[in-house]
Amino acid sequence: MNYTDKELLERFMDKVSSRAKTFIGYPASSEFDYSELYPLLKYCLNNVGDPLVDSHSDMHSKYFERDVISFFAELFKAPVANWWGYVTNGGSEGNLYALYLARELYPEGMVYYSEATHYSVQKNVHLLNMPSIVIRATENGEMDYEDLRETIQLHRHRPVIILANIGTTMTEAKDDIVRIREILKTYAIKNSYIHCDAALAGTYLSLLDRCRFDFTHGADSITISGHKFIGSPIPCGVVLVKKNYKDRIGRSVSYIGTLDTTITGSRNAITPVFLWYAIKKIGKQGLKERAVRCLELAAYAEQRLQEIGIAAWRNPDAITVVFPQPAEKICRKWQLASENGFSHIICMPGVTKQQIDSFVDDLMDKANQQFLCVPEYLSYSIN
Ligand SMILES: *Cc1c(COP(=O)(O)O)cnc(C)c1O
Repeated sequence: MNYTDKELLERFMDKVSSRAKTFIGYPASSEFDYSELYPLLKYCLNNVGDPLVDSHSDMHSKYFERDVISFFAELFKAPVANWWGYVTNGGSEGNLYALYLARELYPEGMVYYSEATHYSVQKNVHLLNMPSIVIRATENGEMDYEDLRETIQLHRHRPVIILANIGTTMTEAKDDIVRIREILKTYAIKNSYIHCDAALAGTYLSLLDRCRFDFTHGADSITISGHKFIGSPIPCGVVLVKKNYKDRIGRSVSYIGTLDTTITGSRNAITPVFLWYAIKKIGKQGLKERAVRCLELAAYAEQRLQEIGIAAWRNPDAITVVFPQPAEKICRKWQLASENGFSHIICMPGVTKQQIDSFVDDLMDKANQQFLCVPEYLSYSIN
């Protein structure tokens, strides 16, 4: 490496470590330490193929992957001996796999998802060439069930594929799949499939027993992101489905071989060990306590913002605090995601009270106070 390359790399590393200090706008835990596992990074491990079927080579970590899947199967009350899943590259791949499965089950199915849905879904539906309809979302980001009801009624002859959000990207709203199931019953929909995109909020909601979206509530598949609440330096996730569905995929695409049951070929073998390590080391109780701390911090942040006159609000059981988009300078420093005049901070594990205080100080600073002009209808607060 020549001098400038070296300098570039050093500058990049410095930048990462300094920008991490004001990273509160995106959902990624920073509370992890996998240094005990670093020796693994000397090897090229690969979990290619089905996690339940060991490959010929021993350079894989499928034992750990199975343990991780089984942890989530228990957490989401998957039907006994009838679940399957794998560690993905993230929530988006999980959504893609679930929609793929739904399409194989119901090739004539219509996909319904709310306008507050993560961008990966629209792309996945397009990749899979599935017909879809976008349902209105209410002000807090939840699916408008009346709009869903009317739309399903119009297409009642087709199988229904629902993409439900368990924590929307902007406001962490949760779609109520129990209510959605009732709508499907009202119209006597024969064939239906509900996928829960729980990438953001799935893990902590079920740890806190605030779960209305698991398999016992009517989910057919669930996706979570591993680098969000649990935390990982490498993005990852988990997709969990009913095994009898997945077996059908095996049959319908038998020409590619029964072992090739995942979306990608070569698969990350390090992230399953990371997730396993976090689950074992922190434990269910430890993760639960972490979730409680996140909720408390979110309540604190919401209150502090309201105290200085900002119309901040949260959905129930949310660690996302939403408020009118502040000045560009603040958005850049605190790396805030903004959409339609709103920004948010997400109190993931690792976000501290000091960071919240310092963020509030920045907002109070006269030099930063030019809020963007926010139209009246956006100053909505659910409190
Ligand atoms: C983060 C997120 C995703 C995508 O997950 P990745 O891990 O980034 O691929 C999908 N849906 C929701 C609601 C999310 O918050």
